[in-house]
Amino acid sequence: MKTKLIFIPFDHLNKDFGALKSANPKTDAIAIVESKRMTSGRAWNKQRLYFLISSARHFAQELRSARFEVHYRKAADTPTGLKAIMKETGIKQLVCAEPSSFVQYRQLKELGAEFVENDFFLTSRTLFTSWAEAQKTFVMENFYRKQRLRLGILVKDGKPEGDAWNFDEDNRLPPPKNYSWDKYPETSPDKIDKEVAKELGVEPSAYWETTRVGALKRLKVFVDKHLEEFGPYEDAVTTESWSLHHSVISPYINNGLLHPGEVVSAVIAKYKKGGVPLNSVEGFVRQVIGWREYINGMYWFLGEDYKHKNGLNAKRKLLPLFVEPSKTKMNCVANEVEAIHNRGWTHHIPRLMILSNLALITGTNPQEFLDWMREQFVDASEWVMVPNVIGMGVHADGGQMMTKPYAAGGAYISRMTNYCKGCAYNSKERTGDTACPFTTLYWDFLDRNSAAFAKNHRMFQQNNGLKRLSDLPEVRKRAQQVLKGLDKGEI
Ligand code: SF4
Repeated sequence: MKTKLIFIPFDHLNKDFGALKSANPKTDAIAIVESKRMTSGRAWNKQRLYFLISSARHFAQELRSARFEVHYRKAADTPTGLKAIMKETGIKQLVCAEPSSFVQYRQLKELGAEFVENDFFLTSRTLFTSWAEAQKTFVMENFYRKQRLRLGILVKDGKPEGDAWNFDEDNRLPPPKNYSWDKYPETSPDKIDKEVAKELGVEPSAYWETTRVGALKRLKVFVDKHLEEFGPYEDAVTTESWSLHHSVISPYINNGLLHPGEVVSAVIAKYKKGGVPLNSVEGFVRQVIGWREYINGMYWFLGEDYKHKNGLNAKRKLLPLFVEPSKTKMNCVANEVEAIHNRGWTHHIPRLMILSNLALITGTNPQEFLDWMREQFVDASEWVMVPNVIGMGVHADGGQMMTKPYAAGGAYISRMTNYCKGCAYNSKERTGDTACPFTTLYWDFLDRNSAAFAKNHRMFQQNNGLKRLSDLPEVRKRAQQVLKGLDKGEI
């Protein structure tokens, strides 16, 4: 007789964490709900749906093999599915690990769910709150250093390994020339993968593993083949390789197939064996124990209304190029949007410095852009995308999270990618028909928002640059043409 129903959301797929770590197949039944809201409510990228659904169905099968009674139900939404399972089984006690969004938290509370601590992160929500409440500004670097000390990672006697907390200077190389990139391994879809792909009307993904065994293989590929050179090229973008030396494991950490703790342990173990440089190891560790934990902490700390912020009063509708990449001649943007449509993933620099940067400097409505990012990426959970887009990407929070906007012209993209050589525009020009839209709009953005940034001392250099711009009237004129052209899908 089962007395407890354990609800497993699609991002808690791990037997050793959350509500499953103390589960007993004799007394506990499992509920997994494939909600229509999640699959058809919005313009979800099919790669994303394929990955999430197939992973959940594989996990249900794995739990059945471990003798659990699993109720996997398709329903209009999660509460409807859970109510149906509770009615059918007669089980009254509903248990879940703290879910990863405000909405789901509320829905489960209304169903009377009991929560166990969400340990899919290395920092509890309480611990993060105590850090955040003691800060004047929420500088990630300060949080990260505390994490290193607290978790005892790359520290000796309270000091950072290599006598530096970061090696950013070594980790900003542009893409190398005449370099041979390892091909990213392809998947071997099984029966469940094929079934999910058929339901979605697509081919099984060549990119995404859908089991823990597969995810562990990807972690091993990263540690064995890519970690060594991850650091220097972590910000580079090249048409020669979509994955470069990135781990591409964020989808698995975010849906629970991998735990951040085991990922960091694998990387540190490799470092201790020798042969991988500290700058690569530190750069990766920072992403996992720093950025990832910080973003999740900030999502909960900043509250549910944070996602509605629009501090720069940005009103432009989502540009047509985000839906149809052929609606732009901008080589960098067209390639990245196309890649995301096909794969549901690109690394942090195209996300931040190409796509978010474009949304920022065109004055695109933050919520429209947030929706697009949420819909497209395989690793996009609410907690990841809200702070990353609203705070970091488009600076819609008035600087609550980041002290200055991540706005950049074509010079940055030209330095860090090989896109500009094949582009209809010239990254060095800010006026004229062939001016790079990023370069023109960067100055126009500073100009349009000069009042908002006038007192920001971190913007001193940019504000000064703007004052010295001799051709500002021409830049303004070209910016209007560019914005109109982007709205029409003709630039
Ligand atoms: Fe992108 Fe401008 Fe470079 Fe073209 S010239 S690829 S639009 S940065």
